[in-house]
Amino acid sequence: MTIAAIATPLAVGGISIIRISGERAIEIADRVFQAQSGIPLAQKAGYTAAFGQIMQDGKSLDTSVATVFRAPKSYTGEDVVELSCHGGVMITREVLRVVLEQGAVLAEPGEFTKRAFLNGKLNLTQAEAVVDLIQAGNRQAMNAARAQMGNALYQKIERIRMDLLAIAGHLGAWVDYPEEEIPEVDQGRLLDSLRQSMRELSRLIRSFDTGKLVREGIETVIAGKPNVGKSTLMNLLAGCRRSIVTDIAGTTRDVVEETVSLGEWTLRLADTAGIRDTADQVEQAGVELARARLEQAQLILAVFDSSQPLSEEDRELIRTVSGKPVIAVVNKSDLPAQIEWEELEQAFPSLLVISARQEESLSGLEEKIGQVIQSEKLDLSAGMIATERQRSCAETVMENLREAAEGLEAGITLDAVTVSIDSAIHALLELTGGNVTEEVVNQVFSHFCVGK
Ligand code: GDP
Repeated sequence: MTIAAIATPLAVGGISIIRISGERAIEIADRVFQAQSGIPLAQKAGYTAAFGQIMQDGKSLDTSVATVFRAPKSYTGEDVVELSCHGGVMITREVLRVVLEQGAVLAEPGEFTKRAFLNGKLNLTQAEAVVDLIQAGNRQAMNAARAQMGNALYQKIERIRMDLLAIAGHLGAWVDYPEEEIPEVDQGRLLDSLRQSMRELSRLIRSFDTGKLVREGIETVIAGKPNVGKSTLMNLLAGCRRSIVTDIAGTTRDVVEETVSLGEWTLRLADTAGIRDTADQVEQAGVELARARLEQAQLILAVFDSSQPLSEEDRELIRTVSGKPVIAVVNKSDLPAQIEWEELEQAFPSLLVISARQEESLSGLEEKIGQVIQSEKLDLSAGMIATERQRSCAETVMENLREAAEGLEAGITLDAVTVSIDSAIHALLELTGGNVTEEVVNQVFSHFCVGK
């Protein structure tokens, strides 16, 4: 089946591209496109282009450049023609309609990339990285997606799979020759090898959570009693005065949301009412919301006023956030200090002294965030688990390997251990797409947009 779709955003722009892929791509393109040279596209080599007209009912609809790709040297691995035309919504839709009238079928979401996968142009983790690359909203996310397209995860997974195949080979030999003496040392080595694979895998699984923070942003809560400078900090982060800053305690009642880029990080910020008990009902609702958000936060900026001694409210905040991913932001460093430093230093492993009125404060914060969410342990180019699907496969592998290791240690029959390892290998193949059901493939590509 030959498919077609608009590959560019359906909006006003310089150029729009209609992509056609499949056995009849060139033939269909020849029916709608008339080259100025008079030479049909069927006579053109791959990677060549022709200038001409898109024809509708014998009349020119638009001028266009047709680019020809010949199988297997194209994105999908099939014959592909890309028609570039003027970038208007109406004109683009009309060109697509003419192409469909000539026998192409409208592509499903992600169908071009799906065909690329089915034709062996890329593996499943690379295909998934295509979505991440398109959607990357910050540099870290983009770099992670690029590493993934460069096969960083695939290579890690393949190495684990090769190790497991070697273990399975050894076990197979034992099972086949049960009467032979099994050297103790070998069994130890197999266990080591198994544990090595498990360590690598668990690192990859952990990378999923950090990767998610990188892609989707860090859910951040700014907490602290009234007047410590939360709004000022928020405004400094946002680069604009978004929420009300005031000297009267208790005026930040609603949760104001903001997404800000702080160097490499994207923070999803909520500036919340101070945590304290109050008789004011409207404010009470805000306080409860603030508590709920503290529970879910991936990062808490606990703000204190260094020009005042710690109050009971401050101490309650310290107790509430203890053990959570928190940075103590000790604000108003431009004023004479009154705060109990020792108490704060004991309570918080990560402490930052700033004046929220000064822009220079931000670079220190960026560094602390990296420490708190342990970015130093995250090497994005080293390959990471990027999707829920991949994570679930990796968990299955982990489960199987745990069974195998326990089995080996307990000296259960080697057949059973072999079964666990075979299951692990199978799940690894599912992760990379080497062995997946059609249902899984369809699920993966349903996240794509039409035309990709
Ligand atoms: P919030 O109630 O925690 O949101 O506190 P605000 O951001 O509204 O700040 C309360 C007051 O402290 C305002 O008058 C701010 O201008 C002031 N303030 C905030 N940060 C600093 C700072 O670093 N130094 C000084 N001197 N004042 C600050």
